[in-house]
Amino acid sequence: MRSSEIAFQRCLNTTCGSTFSISEVLTRCSRCGDLLDVDYDWSRARVPGSLREFEARWSERLNPLSYSGVWRFRELLPFAPDEQIVTIGEGQTQLKSSNAVARYCDLPEGTVLLQYEGLNPSGSFKDNGMTAASTHARMTGAKQAACASTGNTSASLAIYGGTSGLFGVVVFVGSGKISYGKLSQALDYGALTVQIRGDFDDAMRQVQAVCQREGIYLCNSVNPFRLEGQKTIIYRILESLGWEVPDWIVVPGGNLGNSSSFGKALSELKQLGLIQKLPRLAVINAAGSDTLYELYERRGSRWNGGQVDQALIDGFYAELDASGKRAETLATAIQISRPVNLKKALRALDVCDGVVRRVTDQEILDAKAQIGAGGFGCEPASAASVAGARLLRREGTIAPGERVVCILTGHQLKDPTATVAYHAGDAHSRDDLLKHGVERTPFANRPVAVANEIEEILRAVRAGSVG
Ligand SMILES: *Cc1c(COP(=O)(O)O)cnc(C)c1O
Ligand SMILES: [Zn+2]
Repeated sequence: MRSSEIAFQRCLNTTCGSTFSISEVLTRCSRCGDLLDVDYDWSRARVPGSLREFEARWSERLNPLSYSGVWRFRELLPFAPDEQIVTIGEGQTQLKSSNAVARYCDLPEGTVLLQYEGLNPSGSFKDNGMTAASTHARMTGAKQAACASTGNTSASLAIYGGTSGLFGVVVFVGSGKISYGKLSQALDYGALTVQIRGDFDDAMRQVQAVCQREGIYLCNSVNPFRLEGQKTIIYRILESLGWEVPDWIVVPGGNLGNSSSFGKALSELKQLGLIQKLPRLAVINAAGSDTLYELYERRGSRWNGGQVDQALIDGFYAELDASGKRAETLATAIQISRPVNLKKALRALDVCDGVVRRVTDQEILDAKAQIGAGGFGCEPASAASVAGARLLRREGTIAPGERVVCILTGHQLKDPTATVAYHAGDAHSRDDLLKHGVERTPFANRPVAVANEIEEILRAVRAGSVG
């Protein structure tokens, strides 16, 4: 098979450096246990001489591979034969300038851009990766695929399994931690949904054991093929900017698959001579779930040429265990205390001169209200990017005039509970906000309750009219 010669799997640990065929189903290096990358012999891949050549794909929209916002860049993730690709038209996403958000961040109008990944078929950026993992599952003949999830990964895997009919789907979720929008997707798309009495970190541990024992294809972001698909978020951003590189890319950090894949995409483009400079990367943690922030900004954890100080990381996890502290944030998609792609994220931060920040749930929900009022909206975790950009501006790290792209990872409808709690603020939902330290709702758009009586209704309409 042509493409199986170009692509291979390589251990992230530079001392080990083992390579494996892409026909092997692995989630870890079988020699040393470290994470794996999908890597390529670029000299044998058919990479275009200029990124502009990808624009020609817009005229081939009847070809599903060119319609897909992931696979129209297939020469930059050349691991799959065309006829094996599993696509449902993912990646039709948009980069939009938001002046409301720019003002909120104290940045000049026109310089803050929002990448709406919620526009994907299952409503989150996860589809970019799941189309690639589903393709690899098909290439390796998988009959069943599984993941642990805070909600969006399971929704995404379930939609790919359901629509393709190629494999059965098992999803593991922590109990009581998953929003109804996301849970409803896994159930509706027909996935076997296992609710574990525990949190995401527990579900993650269990799914790896189950997949190993049962020979089920694992689709969490330890799966290196998923990250290949997620690289295309970067390609689409560059395409929207006329192939100019922005100054900053700001992304929420959970399991750190996205930040890792962004770093890989950008360093490959640079290596291939397709871009000349790199943006800076900002990864934003929720304050209640800030492992990367703690390790990178406070304890000095670094990529260090592939020689990551594992003892430093293990020490931090031992402290977490000893304290019994669990990740806690309203931004459930980033409520993760042991991010599986930690080392790859350290590499991305190294490549892109990155920074990591933490933002409170108050800052997240305020930013979310600004995003919603001036654009398509997003779920709470996504708004961490804008809250982070605002923080970076306030501390002077982002300078006025720099072009800032914030990734909005999930659709507004994914988690209506948090949104309605913020805006409508009934007693019950206010309690939940208070529990997460959200005491103020300065940007709340309150519903107006009126009697079923025309004069009173008119008074409400006139009082509320802007103009
Ligand atoms: C998965 C997810 C994240 C976290 O992304 P990672 O790649 O795990 O860091 C953030 N926001 C949303 C909406 C998600 O679904
Ligand atoms: Zn290894």
